[in-house]
Amino acid sequence: MPYDMPLYRPPSEADSLILQVTLGCSHNKCTFCSMYKAKKFRILTVQELEKHLNWAKEYYPKARRIFLADGNVLVMKTEKLKNIVEGLYRDFPNLERVTAYAGPRDILEKSMEELKKLHSSGIAMLYLGIESGSAQILKDINKGVTPEEMIEAGQKARKAGFKLSCTIILGLGGTELWREHAYETARVINAIQPEYLGALTLMVEENTPLIRKIKNKEFQLLRPLEIIDELREMISNFQLENCIFRSNHASNYLALKGTLNKDKDKLLFTLNEAKKLGEKVFRPEGWRGF
Ligand code: SF4
Repeated sequence: MPYDMPLYRPPSEADSLILQVTLGCSHNKCTFCSMYKAKKFRILTVQELEKHLNWAKEYYPKARRIFLADGNVLVMKTEKLKNIVEGLYRDFPNLERVTAYAGPRDILEKSMEELKKLHSSGIAMLYLGIESGSAQILKDINKGVTPEEMIEAGQKARKAGFKLSCTIILGLGGTELWREHAYETARVINAIQPEYLGALTLMVEENTPLIRKIKNKEFQLLRPLEIIDELREMISNFQLENCIFRSNHASNYLALKGTLNKDKDKLLFTLNEAKKLGEKVFRPEGWRGF
């Protein structure tokens, strides 16, 4: 396979054809993330992309869904990306949707007209890593945007017509900022009103600034029951019209899913029951990296 590894995609794109149009992440500075540390960000050359496309057309001619990798595909010039996406709909006659990761800064740097053009070309949904709504946490993790900029990016993408799938990370504020993380993240998500929301749990990766902070005792991880408290506060504060919520990633202690706000009480009931039963009902935490 002509992929430049490592390769990442959202869990919901498990059945999609992955097409690499960029390598790495143009930001690549978040303190908890090691995904693209080994890659220097760049956009594939026309020749490389053509080779990748020829391979995809040969092996997956009936692809219905295509996910554009790696991170921050929107960093590309609008016309170039639009032409690539329109070409995909010509090359893959069964294609129904194209999706991609999007960094908040890249959304903000495009005009509304450019975003609408990209949506009309066939990019149906963007995956946006919110991580936290707390100004302090976003600064600590070096996300590169403030909560207000994150809201602006999310609202702008939705206004341009994209569906949004947002991700938040439980435990990202540690023991010190967990309440702020819960309230502020709910505030930001409420302001954006994404169609999909996924809550992961913080995993500690080797060779990241975060692990050094933990070793220096500058950051204290939440215990499993504290993660449940944090999620409970967050869910209590969500005011969402019709958002499919999932917390069933491999990193999560408890698998939850529902539609918010409709299933809010049901989700809170499950969390309260889990709290009563205690840590024995959770997955062991060796996978979190400590
Ligand atoms: S979390 Fe996302 S934006 Fe931040 S460095 Fe990792 S891939 Fe890039």
